[in-house]
Amino acid sequence: MQIPDIIIAIDGWSSTGKSSFAKLVASSFGFLYLDSGAMYRGVTLFALEKGFIADAAIDEAALRLALPGLELHFERDEEHGTRLFMGERCIEGEIRGMKVSSFVSPISAIAFVRAWVDERLHAFSEGGRVVMDGRDIGTTVFPDAELKIFMTASPEVRAQRRYDELVMKGQKADLEEVRRNLQERDYIDSHRETSPLRQAQDAFVLDNSEMTFHEELVWIQGLIQGKFGILQ
Ligand code: C5P
Repeated sequence: MQIPDIIIAIDGWSSTGKSSFAKLVASSFGFLYLDSGAMYRGVTLFALEKGFIADAAIDEAALRLALPGLELHFERDEEHGTRLFMGERCIEGEIRGMKVSSFVSPISAIAFVRAWVDERLHAFSEGGRVVMDGRDIGTTVFPDAELKIFMTASPEVRAQRRYDELVMKGQKADLEEVRRNLQERDYIDSHRETSPLRQAQDAFVLDNSEMTFHEELVWIQGLIQGKFGILQ
């Protein structure tokens, strides 16, 4: 299917399978995949390693001063797909653990952190043909994105998916803790002052609680055909 040079914005609740869906869409259409959540996770790892988070309190002044020195970028290869790097170091494994997960929402609620991430996401997306997933892509980062999807799924399905993902990566996981973390992140993400998570008015809702990847792909293909008048 020949797709125009558009930006596809995929937002939604935590662990609704946004990244898996976005990667599938990107590889099917030959688009670049950008994971905005990874950027917030990268900033969180940086803050943890620099000691800016102690006893659950964030030293915002220190983070603001140090942030210009942080270098995050994505690298892509056949074997690993898209991975986040901090300078020379691949941090893909570290940013997915529970430690980073438990601080990423408060870190991403900080306005200057959001501005820093948004600037980079725009630079990475020059030229279009991008699928980006996150919480505020269709509302704040790319409010003019040509196609916006908002993903949701039942809380049970989401917790189980996240738990399975952690176990598969060999990380320690407790289903109850995972469920609590998702609830907390949903709350903070949708109640923060700066670009809270919400569905863009012109977004198409995808509830994938009971859908396979293949069904999700067929769904978006149908959507694109209808919206852009593509025949095959
Ligand atoms: O998508 P993922 O779960 O990896 O995102 C981690 C966290 O980063 C989210 O819970 C949210 O707090 C934050 N985030 C955000 N805005 C985005 C993407 C992620 O605030 N566009």
